[in-house]
Amino acid sequence: MTEINRLLEANSGYAAARANVHDPRPSRHLAIVTCMDARIDVFAALGLHLGEALVLRNAGGRITEDMLRSLAVSSHVLGVDTVVVMQHTKCGLAGVTDEELRAQTGADLGFYPILDHAQALREDVEVLTATPYLAPVRVVSGMVFDVESGEITDVVRVERP
Ligand SMILES: [Zn+2]
Repeated sequence: MTEINRLLEANSGYAAARANVHDPRPSRHLAIVTCMDARIDVFAALGLHLGEALVLRNAGGRITEDMLRSLAVSSHVLGVDTVVVMQHTKCGLAGVTDEELRAQTGADLGFYPILDHAQALREDVEVLTATPYLAPVRVVSGMVFDVESGEITDVVRVERP
């Protein structure tokens, strides 16, 4: 069976059992920005349920232009007032450089590599709080998820009135 067929077969059971959530706005007004890493079960790790939070993922869980685009919609259209940026240990973007990733991928892109989690989180939180159109966001938090223990380290938080 191909991977795609496995997905479709699993979906038939899921669709029959799942609760229907009508409102696209997350009920806890949360957006979680995190890495695409397969070891992070965002909903389980944070005690979230269907319909409660938006989850935005990319390589590294970094605040890129496209994350800002999604957060503009999250905050102005979908009622998000709290953004959590969650990086993680053993991340593929940590300890590498743009030059190395460009050579490895052949893609002439900025990869937002992470030299230090605390510094990268502070930078990303700063970008979020300094972006004028994200004014509806009242709380921005930066944290690190440990993929081995499952524990979270709370690194930085900004709350504004
Ligand atoms: Zn990662």
